[in-house]
Amino acid sequence: MPSWPNSNETSDDDDEYMSEFTSMNMEYFQTPDTVIDPNFSGLVTESNRRCILHRERAGKFVAFEGTDTGRRFIGCATEDGVNCGVLEWVDAPWPVILQRCLTKLWDMYHEKNLGRVQDKEAHEIEVEKLKKELDSLGNQYSQLVDDVSKLLDYQDGQKSHDMDYTIQTINELKEKKHQLEERAKIEIQMEKLKLKKEQRCIL
Ligand SMILES: [Zn+2]
Repeated sequence: MPSWPNSNETSDDDDEYMSEFTSMNMEYFQTPDTVIDPNFSGLVTESNRRCILHRERAGKFVAFEGTDTGRRFIGCATEDGVNCGVLEWVDAPWPVILQRCLTKLWDMYHEKNLGRVQDKEAHEIEVEKLKKELDSLGNQYSQLVDDVSKLLDYQDGQKSHDMDYTIQTINELKEKKHQLEERAKIEIQMEKLKLKKEQRCIL
């Protein structure tokens, strides 16, 4: 761990802030991705070091990006909004050979990730297609159920229609029978009257 100015005096801190800010190289604002290392990560407690823009207590980080992977640094600990970046690298840049290996590893990782993204996209397209097929099958099934219901209703309707017709015919027949019976009764009565009349004539 390198040492950094232990400045607890506000004026020094402000001077430090101004010099840091004016000499600020834009690349420092680009905070690398980080990985948590329980033995190192956390807020800076060894000094009163503050970040450049927010003036908040700085944090200790381990870079996890490109050729800086594994390098420790002191930087802005703000978690929301703009991160004001690296204050100081704890570790010097890695040897070139290690940087090349790291680049190679990250390229392999990104390539694999890209492959996974493409696989995921292909998979999503397939899922979408299957969903559409499922919807279509669902619609076909509903249509089939509708058709069968209609058919059954139609048959029921036919049956009840036949039944209605039969009942109507029976009623008509009953009515006819009744009428015939009535007529027969009247005729019998008339016959009886005729008979009585004839009997009277004979007598
Ligand atoms: Zn900050």
